Amino acid sequence: MGVNPQHANIKAVRGTRDLLPPETDLWFHVEHTARRVFACYGFGEVRTPIFEDTQLFARGVGEETDIVSKEMYTWEDRARAQSEKAQSLTLRPENTAGVVRAYIEHKLGETGQLQKLYYIGPQFRRERPQKGRYRQFFQIGAEVIGAPSSGSESPLRDAEVLEMLATLLNELDIKGWVLNLNSVGSSSERPRYIAALKAALEPVKANLCIDCQRRAETNPLRVLDCKVPQDQPIIATLPQIADYLDEASKAHFAAVLASLDACGVPYELNPRLVRGLDYYTRTTFEFSIETGLGTQNALLGGGRYDGLSEMLGGPKAPGIGFAIGEDRLILTLQAMQEASGAQVPQDKLDAYMAPMGEAQNPYALALAKELRTAGLRIEVGDGSFRLKKSFETADKLACKIVIIGEDEASSGELTVKDFATGQQVKLPREILIEQLKITSRNI
Ligand code: AMP
Repeated sequence: MGVNPQHANIKAVRGTRDLLPPETDLWFHVEHTARRVFACYGFGEVRTPIFEDTQLFARGVGEETDIVSKEMYTWEDRARAQSEKAQSLTLRPENTAGVVRAYIEHKLGETGQLQKLYYIGPQFRRERPQKGRYRQFFQIGAEVIGAPSSGSESPLRDAEVLEMLATLLNELDIKGWVLNLNSVGSSSERPRYIAALKAALEPVKANLCIDCQRRAETNPLRVLDCKVPQDQPIIATLPQIADYLDEASKAHFAAVLASLDACGVPYELNPRLVRGLDYYTRTTFEFSIETGLGTQNALLGGGRYDGLSEMLGGPKAPGIGFAIGEDRLILTLQAMQEASGAQVPQDKLDAYMAPMGEAQNPYALALAKELRTAGLRIEVGDGSFRLKKSFETADKLACKIVIIGEDEASSGELTVKDFATGQQVKLPREILIEQLKITSRNI
């Protein structure tokens, strides 16, 4: 008999996945470290909605980008009442457009202050799933944005963001990162370069991949971003943006590099780094890693987007930001831990309460409550367990076991065994609590 389709297992959708403990401890560690480092640089957290008006991404990210042209989860949201209009909505494929929309909507420019905002959250792109590439993935990102009078255009901001990222990767003990850096010029220099690129592509485009043949017409910059190996020798012969920068953009880029040199942040200049989103101007960058992930080695990317606010109907608000692929960062950390043979320490609970019968459950739970309130990490067994099973379970989960039998509960003298030393003692309840507090690594 076949499986009744109604009872078939429902699985996580292709390209999405569940993150479970203990792996989520590593996610917590990464996010906690990021929050701590960002706070040192004056950033505060912003949380924008997970879905937005489709127009935000069409205008902000660019119609011709891969993201908008083929990867977005878009749907027509029906009107539920006469007063409501149907609307095209999209799951956010990235977070910069949403942050800039929020900046405009809340008139943050009018504060006159430079805004330093970071976010941590899921993004959605209908890409072909593979290791390190998912349809729901997490980004940790930040934006520095403000009216020009707040200093948002200053190359100091670019260098500060890059130095912060170097510090974060070092704090996370990510070894062997490489910072690739380029300047793609301002919106006034771009047309001249694009014209030269188009002219250079004309005689060779027939030999490029189908996507690039289209891009050569619609958005030639995207050709530089192509990852198809056969296209690379042709791409290497195309004109470079560096030769088309005006004096102001050259000086801006030189000032970014001077600050990075002063801070001792190493970088490699990569004239082909234009990145996959249309809004970038001047500084663009990517941090990648040589090991662990095969071809998907870009850990994070970002750049300046001096015209984005205006593209979204807002005031002039130059800015610079980045997005770290958190999934890839975690994969890299795991690969590094594996390669170094480092055992990830099993984080054991402080104690396991073992009631010896159901009658002792309330006592055990009350004692656990007191210890948990003091910040200790406690698990409570089930009073239907036997002594042997309780010891086995406790040994796996916790540093100590506290036995709560009929006698113990009435006398208030509890039997405690420390698994590390093998020592077993009887302790009055008050002393036990004090001792557990002293030996806990948490407090
Ligand atoms: P982007 O928003 O395209 O500039 O990407 C920034 C970073 O997000 C990349 O460097 C990747 O690390 C990560 N990323 C982008 N797309 C995906 C994906 N589909 N799955 C996992 N990580 C991704």
